[in-house]
Amino acid sequence: MTERIVIVGAGQAGYQIAASLRQEGFEGTLTMIGDEPFLPYQRPPLSKAYLMGKADEYSLPIRPEAFYEANRVEVVRGERVTGIDRQARTLVTASGKSFAYDRLALATGSRARALPIEGADLDGVVSLRNLDDAHRLKRILDDAETLAVIGGGFIGLEVAASSKALGKSVTVIEALDRLMGRAVAPATSAFFAEFHKSLGNTVLTSTAVARIGGNGRVSHVELSDGRRIEADAVVIGVGASVNMELAADAGLSCGNGIAVDDFTFTSDPLIVAAGDCTEHPNRFAGGRFRLESVQNATDQGRIAAKSLVGQRVAYDSVPWFWSDQADVKLQMAGLPMGADNYVVRGDPAAKRFSVFHFAGDRLVCVDSMNRPGDHMLARRLIEAGVSPTREQVGDEGFDLKPLMPRRG
Ligand code: FAD
Repeated sequence: MTERIVIVGAGQAGYQIAASLRQEGFEGTLTMIGDEPFLPYQRPPLSKAYLMGKADEYSLPIRPEAFYEANRVEVVRGERVTGIDRQARTLVTASGKSFAYDRLALATGSRARALPIEGADLDGVVSLRNLDDAHRLKRILDDAETLAVIGGGFIGLEVAASSKALGKSVTVIEALDRLMGRAVAPATSAFFAEFHKSLGNTVLTSTAVARIGGNGRVSHVELSDGRRIEADAVVIGVGASVNMELAADAGLSCGNGIAVDDFTFTSDPLIVAAGDCTEHPNRFAGGRFRLESVQNATDQGRIAAKSLVGQRVAYDSVPWFWSDQADVKLQMAGLPMGADNYVVRGDPAAKRFSVFHFAGDRLVCVDSMNRPGDHMLARRLIEAGVSPTREQVGDEGFDLKPLMPRRG
């Protein structure tokens, strides 16, 4: 009998699992079920090119409809899977449809974290996770002059830079003492704080929001210290929550995400999971970890497909990420856990430099600003566990490339 694989979630990882399954020679029936009304699309442009009108709905899909037809992937759109019966090997959706599977892949991603404060439900207040959100934000910005961005993480700062380019007056409000504080070095945070100020944005760190005010429609944000920030649009960018309820309700082990092993198997050997929704062993994090990145969704999706066709290949990719803010491309390689010292290479004033983080003498993570060569080098060094010395990194005249291990 033909084998049936069903993928829940039609995003970056869901797409990758489907595409890789066919590349790996899977000949059975392949169905991908997504709750959004779209084919899998790229989320990164939503806070960047799409918001600025440089990309549209037609440029966002990862692959066109013809790809799914040619690869015999049935994409079921606009259906939310609400239950998994692992005994019967069936799924049920919110509209009451039922799907049978032999093996199942979960790629349910994450969602924008809600901010439980007064006024978060006013018109003109939005968070950004999907194309519908981005569309709404664009419409809101059309009628807005002042924007408050709550949260100085990647998405908040990208929205701030894009909105500035659209001529808005922008205030970024961050509760921690520095921007992107959980992901980048203090030197990188400091650079971006100055950079946003140079764009004309107001940046408030160590600043908490008390409530969002307005009469039906947002008019201002009230800070905990009583200050009032005028805003006719508000973007909430305070991180993401993992979509793991479906897995947890089905009795699969979950931690800070759906628990998977090196091969992306969940606690049920017939079910794999990949992407933002997984908590997986990650040697670069020094333990189990959950990543939210295109890199992770793509690489883990490939491994999940291999596992589904019976190969034994472990997920072992160096984490990497990027963030485009105006004319600065930030690229990160590795993870900052355990970093206790860092060295700057290049020229922050010229907006071209990298911050190399070390845990003792071991290179663990590099933030590169408009230095793609450093980023690619860092990925190779960290993957191979090769660390330059602090002196070598600090000396621009020292060529780091020969340290790079040869690919064999
Ligand atoms: P998703 O792409 O979120 O896909 C999951 C899909 O599953 C969603 O469509 C969801 O609605 C659906 N789903 C969930 N539950 C169900 C269910 N029960 N039934 C049916 N469908 C369901 N990463 C980078 O590396 N670089 C960037 O610059 C970058 N910028 C970003 C900018 C924005 C605005 C956002 C939102 C994200 C950005 N990311 C970036 C993160 C990146 O997009 C995600 O890490 C990536 O999309 C994760 O892929 P995924 O398939 O795991 O999840």
